[in-house]
Amino acid sequence: MRTPLIIGNWKMHKTVAEAVAYVTAFLPRVAQVTDVEIGIAPVFTALSSVATAAKGSTLRVLAQDVATEGPTGAFTGEVAAEMLREVGCYGVIVGHSERRRYYGETDAIVAAKVRRTLDAQLLPVACVGETLDEREAGTALTVVERQLRAIAGTLTPDEAPRIVLAYEPVWAIGTGRAATPEVAQAMHRHLRATWEECFDAPAAAALRILYGGSVTADNIAAFTSLPDVDGALVGGASLAPDGFAQLIQRSQVASA
Ligand code: PEP
Repeated sequence: MRTPLIIGNWKMHKTVAEAVAYVTAFLPRVAQVTDVEIGIAPVFTALSSVATAAKGSTLRVLAQDVATEGPTGAFTGEVAAEMLREVGCYGVIVGHSERRRYYGETDAIVAAKVRRTLDAQLLPVACVGETLDEREAGTALTVVERQLRAIAGTLTPDEAPRIVLAYEPVWAIGTGRAATPEVAQAMHRHLRATWEECFDAPAAAALRILYGGSVTADNIAAFTSLPDVDGALVGGASLAPDGFAQLIQRSQVASA
């Protein structure tokens, strides 16, 4: 039984004050939700305050990125995984397509970040996904499988249960053009089958794979009702506490 997980990725939005006000408004709206794990990923500067505001609740706080190095060192501008844990983080989004695309993160860099995240006892939410060109060229499965195998290659078999994957087709992120349920299910099934090749059948059965890309309160149910989709990574639709709470409630109805 895989507990559904829904994470809001706020990207570069919200001041500390706005982030804390969000949490204060959001928590009562999801207080009755018990069978979905919920996370939010604020900017670095808001992590500590958000973690404090979330204390005593089940809300998970995640960072949006982490250094490849650590726990300390001469790496100007970077934040080590241990430092994220110190301020109350539960996990880290690693290898988001915006990091791969705008900041040159390669499969090797993403794998190193997964490694550092695990070494600091945090949960990596590792993102994979193909571009529109790759999908149109018919290479989506092979591209995403390559990204996945780079991540799997950094893990020992006993670490396989300590990671969450997010399939986020690049062409669906922030575009309002979500993948169809058929496309998402086919990719998630392929990722699970690849995980079984990398590890074993129990590891594949336990792996949580989130879908991300233009998920809203209106379409969440179409994804969470799929057999190989175990939740969502949500960008724009996580920015307002009312809307994100509604999205989470609707996901629950779908998986009930
Ligand atoms: C994301 O940022 O990971 C994402 C999926 O964004 P959006 O939901 O806005 O498409």
